[in-house]
Amino acid sequence: MLFSHDTELTLRAAAMLINTDRDDGEQLDDQPALDEYLNYFGWTGRRDHDDSELAAVHALRARLGRIWESADDEERAVGQVNALLADTHASPWLTRHPEMPEWHLHLASQQDPLAQRMGAEFSMALADLIRVGELRRLKICAASVTAVTASMLRHIANGVRGRRSAR
Ligand SMILES: [Zn+2]
Repeated sequence: MLFSHDTELTLRAAAMLINTDRDDGEQLDDQPALDEYLNYFGWTGRRDHDDSELAAVHALRARLGRIWESADDEERAVGQVNALLADTHASPWLTRHPEMPEWHLHLASQQDPLAQRMGAEFSMALADLIRVGELRRLKICAASVTAVTASMLRHIANGVRGRRSAR
């Protein structure tokens, strides 16, 4: 598949975010856990390090989970992705910075709240996936969420977690 590296990485980040609240229970319950997740994906920009920021990330995670669950219903997923694009005011602009010296797109201002920036990135990556007719690559396997693209298969194997059995 001809996704950009950005799209692949972002979809992987989205899948991993959803999987922080599956079989193993809440894995993103404090600031150090959120820092670890964000640092793993080289996420830059504003951090508030407060409870409302973490709560907003949790809300975004739940919203992404619902999009994954809609992957078999293209019209429904498109509506959800469009809503996320609109709510996060996703607007692409080219930038480069020490963490990523190649020109690439950001979808929000570095000063926008974290969950808004994340939502903008995720919604654009999902839009990319839908645009090339590959929505079905979002999967909820028996017990895990994945975003599978050809070159991601080898990366993602260790990243997926089962759905929390209590749900
Ligand atoms: Zn960047």
